[in-house]
Amino acid sequence: MSAPTIGVLALQGDVREHLAALTSCDVDAVRVRRPEELEQVDAVVIPGGESTTIGKLLVTFELLEPLQKRVRDGMPAFGSCAGMILLADRVLDGTADQVGVGGLDVTVRRNAFGRQVDSSERVVEWLPEPGRPITAVLIRAPWVERCGPDVETLATVADGSSAGRIVAVRQGPLMATAFHPELTADPRVHELFVSMVRNS
Ligand code: GLN
Repeated sequence: MSAPTIGVLALQGDVREHLAALTSCDVDAVRVRRPEELEQVDAVVIPGGESTTIGKLLVTFELLEPLQKRVRDGMPAFGSCAGMILLADRVLDGTADQVGVGGLDVTVRRNAFGRQVDSSERVVEWLPEPGRPITAVLIRAPWVERCGPDVETLATVADGSSAGRIVAVRQGPLMATAFHPELTADPRVHELFVSMVRNS
């Protein structure tokens, strides 16, 4: 089987880091900034940044509707942080005019870890591999407050005041993390997404 092509939405955020992480998983990783580029990819990664800004840029770049359509039609997508917010069907503490892609039957809360700590590292339980937690980088991160019946929890905060909070989920071909796996050397999150893409 030839390597899948995975696009990284290149409007804002850690585009280069996601491209590098995907390339290490032996897939073709390309930037997506235009509708024609979206048509060429088998799957998409939505990096972190600011979900309100990325939403506005999706409209400006005429990508919002094509992306919503491809996700509805079953294209695998992985959103980290702001990308999780964009894939969520319901957002708490969003702005009134915030637009999203949707598809994941979850309610997320923006900036859930509080604004006093902009960025932190937390140990999270990685449920696909019990006993092998992940060090998660959280930057003004959301968490998942409610999950629909078809949503699988992939990671929860291990300890501290937010222990047990859900920070990674999967539903069919869609996956989202509140944290930034592209900023650490641990390849397991991207590897899981790539295996979902290969099996889709
Ligand atoms: N707080 C940001 C938002 O609401 C997300 C932060 C991030 O992606 N690192 O979009």
